[in-house]
Amino acid sequence: MEATRMNAIRILQRLATPADSKLVLLVLDGLGGLPDEQSGLTELESAQTPNMDRLARENSIGLATPLLPGVTPGSAPAHLALFGYDAFEYEIGRGVLSAVGVGLDLGPADVACRINFATMQDGLITDRRAGRIPTEEGARLCEVLSTIEIPGVEIIVRPEMQYRAVIVWRGEGLSDAIADTDPQTTGAAPLPARALKPEAEKTAEIISRFVAEANRLLADEPQANTILLRGFGRLPSIPTFQELYGLKAAVIAAYPMYRGLAKLVGMEELPAGQTFADQVASLKKAWHDYDYFFLHVKGSDAAGEDGDFARKVSVIEEVDAGLSELLALDPDVLVVTGDHSTPARLLAHSWHPVPVLLASRHARPNAWAERFGESDAARGTLGHIRSQDLMGLMLAHGQRLKKFGA
Ligand code: ZN
Repeated sequence: MEATRMNAIRILQRLATPADSKLVLLVLDGLGGLPDEQSGLTELESAQTPNMDRLARENSIGLATPLLPGVTPGSAPAHLALFGYDAFEYEIGRGVLSAVGVGLDLGPADVACRINFATMQDGLITDRRAGRIPTEEGARLCEVLSTIEIPGVEIIVRPEMQYRAVIVWRGEGLSDAIADTDPQTTGAAPLPARALKPEAEKTAEIISRFVAEANRLLADEPQANTILLRGFGRLPSIPTFQELYGLKAAVIAAYPMYRGLAKLVGMEELPAGQTFADQVASLKKAWHDYDYFFLHVKGSDAAGEDGDFARKVSVIEEVDAGLSELLALDPDVLVVTGDHSTPARLLAHSWHPVPVLLASRHARPNAWAERFGESDAARGTLGHIRSQDLMGLMLAHGQRLKKFGA
């Protein structure tokens, strides 16, 4: 059983066969929730979602465990699972995701890490996000940091969003075995860039010089007067959607990290615009050019993390309203799910299984279902699966898998 699990993606690769079908994966980040104490309904169950409710009755619904029961996932491993990968085998650092997300081409020897602009007072961090400075402000500060020169290494600094940016370190003999300098709390001093292995000493020295220089250049900034570095890593070698499933795939996501992750597995990037309707318009335009589309909606997770039940409900409703346009394209397989749960009650990601809706003319219906939500999903025809198994189900419902054995 364990061996089968580990090789699952290779079995899909063996069985994958070409077809004309169109597959769409729509991820509402952090979709799963917990009931509101008054109504007894979760965010998804509270939302007015006539499209999803109808799809739930006419198609399969169920629950998916992102990684392992009880394990709360980050968004990156949770998405890798939705793409069919074993997230424990392909662990990807945040720095690499950010670098790929902002469009930097990483070489195998490059080391990437993420920057948080932060506020420091008397040597102690008072705000790890520098008051969430606007994105343009972050971009200006990246220009300032780009002037830093250290012999023997090329340093590429790029803004991401708000207080977040990314650095790529390019040169001979660099190592990614560097500890985060982010103390993860306020009232503490930034940590030194410590080598985690002897061969990382030179890299640690370069990074320490960079941080000292950055502190000097940013000293007079009102908010972003220091930087915290984390998520040092290198590009992992990961088989692509084309190699594994024979799928020409595209990503439509507003957030860089998700675009980066999708590009790592071979998806091409399409414009995402500002709203879900923009995403669907972009999908529509490219409909004939790809076999598989991944649409990512961040708002549901952000609202959950803010503890804003009502806002999470309205993000879900906006997506449901936009679904009509998507359904008009008549995808052969449409999956609506989350990468993990982010219950507003917890203000954080959680381990709870996520509702899944799999719409296809070959899906087993749930005529009794009232709505697409956690309670109905728990009794649905899809049963209780792992997120990693969704990819095989999408391929099968799209008639893209051969029979195994005679
Ligand atoms: Zn997420």
